[in-house]
Amino acid sequence: MLLQSERGSLRGGLRQRLQKPSSPAAAPVARCSTTSDETDSSEDERTSVVTKEGAKTEHAADTKVVYEFGGPMGVTALMVGFPILMSYMFICLALHHGRLRSPLEADFWVEGLPSIMPNVRATIIYMGFTVFQYITAATMPGIKVNGLPVPSLGGKQLEYLCNGVATWYLDLVLVLVLHNTGIFPITAVVDEIGPIMSVAMIWAIIVTIATYVVGVVSGRTHRMSGSLPYDMFMGAVLNPRIGNVDLKMWAEIRIPWKILFFISLSAAVKDHELNVAKMIESGSMPGIWSLFGGLIQMNAIQTSAPLLFMLLAHCLYVNACMKGEECIPTTWDIFYEKFGYMLIFWNLAGVPFSYCYSTLYLLNQNMANEPIQHSGAYTAFLFILLLAAYYVWDTANSQKNRFRMQQRGTYVERNTFPQLPWGTIKNPTFIKTKHGNKLLTGGWWGWARKIHYTADLVMALSWGLITGFGSYIPYFYVTFFVVVLAHRVTRDHIHCKEKYGADFDEYCRQVPYVFIPFIF
Ligand code: NDP
Repeated sequence: MLLQSERGSLRGGLRQRLQKPSSPAAAPVARCSTTSDETDSSEDERTSVVTKEGAKTEHAADTKVVYEFGGPMGVTALMVGFPILMSYMFICLALHHGRLRSPLEADFWVEGLPSIMPNVRATIIYMGFTVFQYITAATMPGIKVNGLPVPSLGGKQLEYLCNGVATWYLDLVLVLVLHNTGIFPITAVVDEIGPIMSVAMIWAIIVTIATYVVGVVSGRTHRMSGSLPYDMFMGAVLNPRIGNVDLKMWAEIRIPWKILFFISLSAAVKDHELNVAKMIESGSMPGIWSLFGGLIQMNAIQTSAPLLFMLLAHCLYVNACMKGEECIPTTWDIFYEKFGYMLIFWNLAGVPFSYCYSTLYLLNQNMANEPIQHSGAYTAFLFILLLAAYYVWDTANSQKNRFRMQQRGTYVERNTFPQLPWGTIKNPTFIKTKHGNKLLTGGWWGWARKIHYTADLVMALSWGLITGFGSYIPYFYVTFFVVVLAHRVTRDHIHCKEKYGADFDEYCRQVPYVFIPFIF
């Protein structure tokens, strides 16, 4: 997720002044000094000053327990329901051509469970990937960025090593080498996808319990409700770390989107290999591509346009997370959410193994000799829709993140690929709030308050549309995402109203549309 939501806060009613870095080398690290006077009219317009009142509001919000998701009963249902729902969807996809079957029939589970039984190979693949991601997160070079001042740590700012891009490129090179040498064919991922999903779910549950127990035993709990299921779901610990790796950020960025991409890569390669084998069997030879001056020779790509579409879609998403990773430490998830089932299960298992349904459906259809095919015009339309939505999503997130980072002095200019035009707004318009923060009203943010959600939803819809209309399952992501984003919009509205009061009303007056300009 690419946003920056900044909630500077200091204990003791001190006001925090974040200064702009004086040199590029120092840029990634925000430096603070504190003063006790009120808003300074000579304050540099680009820096943010959290007032005493603002700091108080934030501290109160950080310690207040609010039951969400239906409270203890609701979260218990979610914790039990998610693994069952994912298993059900997977079996429908794998065994029933994506058709929804009654989960109440015993035969459904008797026939389906073997396809998701964990095995040694799946465990090695998932855990090997996870451990490797931890090692690279801890050791690869990257920029260091400070998070927001953490109220429960007396305003301390934790440091985050953002080396996502380096690890991502290393992953790609390694996958290429392992596949081409035959040490680990990437197709093994889709061959073992059901068992890998189960390993991921079991691992997520183990991590949830372990994090909770360690938090309670070590006395590092934060904002506990006293209800075991609720605290298990929301988490007990705010900033769990192993060495220099922040587990929350690591789980959110390094695991889900990379696995999602590698599932799509695996499916596309598998489809390609099956098609090449079929061509050879029928006596026709695939064309040969000679790349890098003949250094690499390969068969011309023989996978379907819809699978290539999913590969591009997932590549764009994972790449965006890696190239803009420095924006993550100041997000709501990192600043406020604890590391519980909600973030753990969803990132380690939910996102990668339920957002991939379109890919799996397309591959299964191809393997069943019932490939999903569309007209050139429909396919071209979806590619254009995906790229257009991606552009809005990337630049909208980037505009807000950079605006907020500039205020805090954490802005660092990056050359990670691709930097899109209009990703940074020069001299944007904004509302200066009594809290001290500024609300951006320029760029995309002058058109609608959640335009990045709209763009994200359009991308999610396109992931479904590329599979046609033969199954609901590829549309699970977009329908689920509507619920997720509706919840986030409501929650964020309440949060901003509490935090900014009348200034937020003024912001809503100046930017009246939420999702679609002039309509909604
Ligand atoms: P948002 O981007 O909606 O951030 C909300 C926060 O940003 C607010 O609380 C406020 O923080 C700040 N903010 C809001 N409006 C403005 C403004 N005009 N100017 C300055 N600051 C503002 O948060 P999310 O984390 O929900 O979403 C980030 C991205 O991640 C989105 O693109 C979303 O689609 C994506 N996402 C994807 C998911 C997936 O599963 N694929 C799941 C969830 C999100 P403050 O209190 O500091 O002022």
